[in-house]
Amino acid sequence: MEKLKLDGNAAAGVLQEIFAVEVTTAAGTCDNCGAIEQVGALVVYKYAPGVVIRCPHCDSVLMRIVSDGSRYWVDLRGVRTLELRGSEATST
Ligand SMILES: [Zn+2]
Repeated sequence: MEKLKLDGNAAAGVLQEIFAVEVTTAAGTCDNCGAIEQVGALVVYKYAPGVVIRCPHCDSVLMRIVSDGSRYWVDLRGVRTLELRGSEATST
């Protein structure tokens, strides 16, 4: 189990395929405990063909992502909000 445990940067590739903006610096709020963390600071378990992302504070599942190579199934029910910065928002 520990060999599968990585930090949130391990999910950057699959998340960037889904979201067209930088996601590792996006701030996610855990729906269970209310903690706010950047995606890069979350706990990632990579299970082929899926990825499970957990809260580093309460261990709740925040996101589940599964792909068959051409489609993605994204379960974000553990994330209360995900704050993403558009390219215009970073210049000020
Ligand atoms: Zn939490």
